[in-house]
Amino acid sequence: MYSGVDKEVRVYVDRFNSYANIFLDGYSQPGIDVGFGTLSLMSEGYGKNYDTIGLCINHFRPTVILDKKFWRTASPVQREELVFHELGHCILGRDHEEATQNLLGYTQPVSLMNPYILSEPDYLHMRDYYIAELFNSTDLESSTVSKMRHRKGKIHAH
Ligand SMILES: [Zn+2]
Repeated sequence: MYSGVDKEVRVYVDRFNSYANIFLDGYSQPGIDVGFGTLSLMSEGYGKNYDTIGLCINHFRPTVILDKKFWRTASPVQREELVFHELGHCILGRDHEEATQNLLGYTQPVSLMNPYILSEPDYLHMRDYYIAELFNSTDLESSTVSKMRHRKGKIHAH
């Protein structure tokens, strides 16, 4: 479908690789394709309250599809969140983590692997934590399982 990483996404994949090199011994980026599509067409049946904005398909070769419409309007911070989340699936083999924790009196997801994208202020407030959590909770042995993952775009209320 795609070949390699779309040039608009390269900077975020490079950043992910930089962190992976810090957190994971012996890391090297596997072959991966990252490109754009219209994911709303693929998300029917998942409900109407949210749109799928990213997808990892891990069959013969890990492939990330990002929703073009979301990408165009997303800030650089939201783009980082989305790419890191999808590479969490496609490279790190992580599943969704829906747990929340109570921080300073309000509820916040424990992980960037939450199926809903974090609000930009929430993410920026704890960015170092989320990045450390993403890699520290990774088991590379499980990173080759075939699976299809969605990231949903509805931003939670704040
Ligand atoms: Zn996901």
